[in-house]
Amino acid sequence: MAAPAAETGPQTASATAPGAAREAIRVEGLHKSFGPHHVLKGVDLTAHEGDVIAVIGGSGSGKSTMLRCINFLETPSAGRVVIAGEEVRQRADGTCADRKQIERIRRSLGMVFQSFNLWTHKTVLENLIEVPVHVMGVPKAEAVERAMALLARVGLAEKAGAYPAFMSGGQQQRAAIARALCMEPKAMLFDEPTSALDPELVGEVLAVIRALAAEGRTMILVTHEMKFAREVASHVVFLADGLVEEQGPPERLFGAPQSPRLQQFLRSVG
Ligand code: ADP
Ligand code: MG
Repeated sequence: MAAPAAETGPQTASATAPGAAREAIRVEGLHKSFGPHHVLKGVDLTAHEGDVIAVIGGSGSGKSTMLRCINFLETPSAGRVVIAGEEVRQRADGTCADRKQIERIRRSLGMVFQSFNLWTHKTVLENLIEVPVHVMGVPKAEAVERAMALLARVGLAEKAGAYPAFMSGGQQQRAAIARALCMEPKAMLFDEPTSALDPELVGEVLAVIRALAAEGRTMILVTHEMKFAREVASHVVFLADGLVEEQGPPERLFGAPQSPRLQQFLRSVG
């Protein structure tokens, strides 16, 4: 008898096997230019449900641009982005044809930035329920209940009424993660979520991300925390100069890197 999918692990299942993990995010031949500056030069990347994909690479290699193209904060210059089987339609001139579709897809991807991005004039709870209540039409009582449960999950139940300015960076970032989770996203996108934190606050944010990974959430995590990437990632992608230079399981990428550029990068951050 076949083992349940939860025991075999989604990333070991083949695409055609019964119960195989479904594709959550697929990027094909992604290009992005800013004027004459060709930043992404044909990036391919696939995340199946339950995958934790760590994206590493030097500053300026295109990591943030790739994440921003996945949720259409930037419009790709060329290539395909498919979210849970749905391809975003674009006009030939590169502008997005369907704002409603973009907004729906963006809400299905919880994005967490380096710089928290909480609304400073709202309390933590107000930050969490704003979009569910005012954009998605969730009844307020239901949104509050869900928000309070998520705040408890990230260890911030006591901070529901606090304003961001009175919280540490680590607390603000945990609130930002809870806010992203309030949208019940299909996947989470993290862009260097601990880079703006004082070193003593990094651990509490990594602990929250680790717990999300352990519960099988799909995520793409851009990070400079190599030890953490090695620990939580099911797959690691090394971006260099707008292209995937090398990718594979963490043990291989970190333990036996093939490309000289990756070897050099790991020496520089190690
Ligand atoms: P990373 O996140 O890997 O450090 P980025 O994706 O932020 O890299 O940036 C890649 C390159 O694209 C950099 O040279 C950066 O200056 C450029 N870039 C990013 N965003 C813009 C923009 N909005 N306009 C012009 N250039 C940009
Ligand atoms: Mg970046």
